[in-house]
Amino acid sequence: MMFFSTRDSEKKMFKASEVIKQGLASDGGLFVPESIPSVSLEEIQELTKKSYPEIAADILSKFLSDYTYDELLEDAEKAYCQSSFPDGAAPLKKVTDNMYSLELWRGPTAAFKDMALQIMPRLLSRALVKTGETNTALILVATSGDTGKAALEGHKDVDKVKIMVFYPVDGVSKVQKLQMVTQTGSNVNVCAIEGNFDDAQTGVKKIFSDTEAKAKLLENSYILSSANSINWGRLAPQIVYYFHAYCELLKSNEIALGEKVNVCVPTGNFGNIFAAYLAKQMGLPIDKLVCASNSNNILTDFIRTGIYDRNRDFHLTMSPSMDILISSNLERLLYFIAGTEETAEYMRQLNTKGCYKINAKTKAVIDENFAGYFADEAETADTLRKFYEEYGYLADTHTSVALNCADKYIAETNDNKKMIVASTASPYKFAADVYKSLTGKEASDGTAALDELSALTNTEISYPLKDLDKRKVNFDKVIVKEDMLNEVYKFM
Ligand SMILES: *Cc1c(COP(=O)(O)O)cnc(C)c1O
Repeated sequence: MMFFSTRDSEKKMFKASEVIKQGLASDGGLFVPESIPSVSLEEIQELTKKSYPEIAADILSKFLSDYTYDELLEDAEKAYCQSSFPDGAAPLKKVTDNMYSLELWRGPTAAFKDMALQIMPRLLSRALVKTGETNTALILVATSGDTGKAALEGHKDVDKVKIMVFYPVDGVSKVQKLQMVTQTGSNVNVCAIEGNFDDAQTGVKKIFSDTEAKAKLLENSYILSSANSINWGRLAPQIVYYFHAYCELLKSNEIALGEKVNVCVPTGNFGNIFAAYLAKQMGLPIDKLVCASNSNNILTDFIRTGIYDRNRDFHLTMSPSMDILISSNLERLLYFIAGTEETAEYMRQLNTKGCYKINAKTKAVIDENFAGYFADEAETADTLRKFYEEYGYLADTHTSVALNCADKYIAETNDNKKMIVASTASPYKFAADVYKSLTGKEASDGTAALDELSALTNTEISYPLKDLDKRKVNFDKVIVKEDMLNEVYKFM
């Protein structure tokens, strides 16, 4: 399996290891596989007999063909081991008669990013060897909160790798911030940016396309790499849990083999839901993909109207990991539906006008696969309380957005297929807003909110978030976005 850039009409081919090492293509496009491998129903039936790491090795080996099956299995076993995921890698919880919560946040940072970032650094480490790389890989990450911590945790003390994380100073929760600034490890750095997530992401993308900066880094024996969801090494492991979830439904006789299910995913950068789309293209019986947004509902509008327009207000919400106006992975979806030229044209318009309208043919494919809904702040809070009171299910704010959108989809369409809702964070990661949604009252500041939520709901604080306030703060720098490159130089 070879890969090329979404924007390269000549289709210059790269191996998977090369793609994981580079992260972003040099023309600014995203790497995509030359084809989408297929998985038969018989194979899905076989997967039900396998462990999570075995399913991961099976699915990943279809894309990462220059890794051996044994390499992938070894990495997956380490990534999804008992000590990192004490409750299993991605448990599926039945919430209502036909709704299931796929809990992707049982890992070491209590958010779904762990599902990819516990394995990707291992894949990167191998990629450096496979490509004969002698320089150190410098990972630059822009984060709206959860990626940063998960990337730090996944890459810390990994050989031949350094990692630097930029986060918007007022765009992450207190808990997220504490998780990042208390990070340990000899090869890590964390820096706050005055601005929002898009500023941070644009800044990182700029460094990636800065040839002068890259030359200077190379002189000092560094190459740039990325851990954002634009890296294929992040995306591929996210396909795995949709197969796993389907197998869980089969094993518990909730569905029959081949029966179609729907999936609802709370999305910002369009990474997680794009992975679900790929699973569907590979042959997993998924019917509709419900794209769930918060008040930054640019994707809802896009799916409904075919117009992507980022000229709009940016809202800070209680689901900050979805506060995004540029959904990078959408470029991959457009590529698979519309091809290189059409996609390049949309991206050009996005760059120049901040807006594009897809043609009718492309829109029809989107309509067939996707439904778009959003939940505003009041709806997110109400849904969180409703699911707790009526079904005893405690969700975080991002998951609540998805539960609300799943509810709306079912009410509007009467489509009663089983619905898998991706649950993307522990309620404790956003404890203050969860507490307020449940009680209508403000929780105490900082980590006290975690104890209050625990007392209120009689549930345990997620293991990675216990005693956060007792850890030492190692990073307190705040810079303007123009200084990002300088900070990178200082770190190297
Ligand atoms: C990152 C994140 C999302 C959005 O993920 P995408 O990659 O944008 O699909 C949703 N919820 C949580 C908790 C996250 O951390």
